[in-house]
Amino acid sequence: MKGSQYAVIGLGRFGSSVAKELIELGFEVLGIDRNEEIVDEMSNVLTHTVVADATDEEVLKSLGIRNFDCAVVAIGDDIQASIMAAILVKDLGVKNVVAKALSELHGKVLHKIGVDRIIYPERDMGIRVAHQLVSPNLLDY
Ligand code: ATP
Repeated sequence: MKGSQYAVIGLGRFGSSVAKELIELGFEVLGIDRNEEIVDEMSNVLTHTVVADATDEEVLKSLGIRNFDCAVVAIGDDIQASIMAAILVKDLGVKNVVAKALSELHGKVLHKIGVDRIIYPERDMGIRVAHQLVSPNLLDY
């Protein structure tokens, strides 16, 4: 959607890749990560970056997260932080919340709290690769 504003929470391999691609596609992206070094690295690439704990409701409020059209919760290892950040952005009014899950159970919890789309990066990429292996002419699946 042209003019849409995206917030990407967690700028690890997955989150930074989503964020950079959204920039390439011409969208505005706010990147949030609690790791200062990671935020420094991304600060020249993204529209806005902030060092913050995304499980802190006051921080999310002060960033005006409810004004974003879409939030991508790209925290994986820390499942508690992933769930907390997802429920907060949903409750604060972000319409479209996408979150990465590391396991089926993690995904189930995200689904129950109202996350709109759940991504299983490794599983989904494995499926794509298998399809591309059997149909090499398939450019994208
Ligand atoms: P990837 O595979 O995408 O590299 P990962 O599955 O290893 O990521 P994590 O390392 O848990 O996932 O998290 C990705 C990013 O999210 C890290 O850069 C981490 O600093 C950040 N992060 C984790 N918890 C929080 C939090 N509460 N608030 C903000 N950022 C966070």
